Amino acid sequence: MVVVGARSEGMTSFGLRTLPYGSFCTIQDPRPRVGVAVDDQVLDLTAASAQRLPAYAEVFAAGTLDRFLGAGPDAWATVRSAVEGWVNDPRIRAALGEHFLPAADVRMLASFAVADYVDFYASEQHATAVGRIFRPDGDALTPNWKHLPIGYHGRAGTVVPSGTPIVRPCGQRRTPEGEVVFGPSTRLDIEAEVGFVVGTPSALGEPVGLGDFDQHVFGVVLVNDWSARDLQAWEYVPLGPFLGKSFATSISPWVVPLAALEHARTAPPARDVPVLPYLDDADHPPWGLDLQLQVRLNGEVISEPPYAGMYWTPAQMLAHLSVNGASVRTGDLYASGTVSGPGERQAGSLLELSNGGREPFPLEDGTTRAFLQDGDEVVISATAPGAGGTRISLGEVRGIVHPSRSVT
Ligand code: CA
Repeated sequence: MVVVGARSEGMTSFGLRTLPYGSFCTIQDPRPRVGVAVDDQVLDLTAASAQRLPAYAEVFAAGTLDRFLGAGPDAWATVRSAVEGWVNDPRIRAALGEHFLPAADVRMLASFAVADYVDFYASEQHATAVGRIFRPDGDALTPNWKHLPIGYHGRAGTVVPSGTPIVRPCGQRRTPEGEVVFGPSTRLDIEAEVGFVVGTPSALGEPVGLGDFDQHVFGVVLVNDWSARDLQAWEYVPLGPFLGKSFATSISPWVVPLAALEHARTAPPARDVPVLPYLDDADHPPWGLDLQLQVRLNGEVISEPPYAGMYWTPAQMLAHLSVNGASVRTGDLYASGTVSGPGERQAGSLLELSNGGREPFPLEDGTTRAFLQDGDEVVISATAPGAGGTRISLGEVRGIVHPSRSVT
């Protein structure tokens, strides 16, 4: 098996087929530009489109993906096809030579303006494990869990690009002795997730059906939904996550188009509870995705969560979040929820890897972790099946924990 997407420190090679989109600048030229990752280079699409695809020059002129996302599936297909043609034609590639920059020389920026942010809870393994930890005396799965993809509305304004420092949040928590105190979170955690980026908007009052998923969703990013478990445990009843989640959510800089994931599509797990017709995907092409995530803490692989076992597909998530008539907007981001598999070291959160904090796990540097310490760096990466037995990279999202700012 050939792995396309071997990485060197701080840089991901995407090969020639993934062709993800992002926004970048350079030290020499701080203006934002749209880039396409090609092998270990970045094609300046803002410049290249002006030269070879003038009908789309305006779409990329601002240097972010916002207008391209909103341009819709025909535009996405036209541009991807054009870039594939350029990349695979040595003469055109040579002619565009000055617009190919070494990936190591670019600085990645926020690739699109996040409109609304929704976070789901689509892994049965994660929901079961967390249910046992947070509600040891109740049923692990809530009665609604297999009838609808549970989600909540998050905070779009704190979705930040990979590399943004993560300041340890302060807040209220209740101590084991029952005292309510304020201070830096003592149980700061990660959630390894996959995010879906909406391009085409929908009208208020018009739900997006299962079959229209790929007409509305442009592509995929990797997500670290940083979580303060102590704040969360105290505040979440009865309205759900609030300050324990809203301080920061990191996303990867490169948006991988759905078109690059055709070999990753797979059937989701068998449904053991019948679902209502608007969620019944039995007669639709499958939108399970065979992505393999990897979580590294200070360079050490601590978990490898498999995405293929996620109970709810992204098509079902979109159908559900719009079934009440809620419209979707260009730039909407919805995340899968923590990706956790059934095996050892397949959980996408430290909460699960440390059994609710009760069993800290050892690291190669001789220390142990139940939750994150200041200075810890977390990197979440992923690969997917590509053509001909290869694997493609989905890039990575990284963040370092910084100490709390003092609060008086
Ligand atoms: Ca989450």
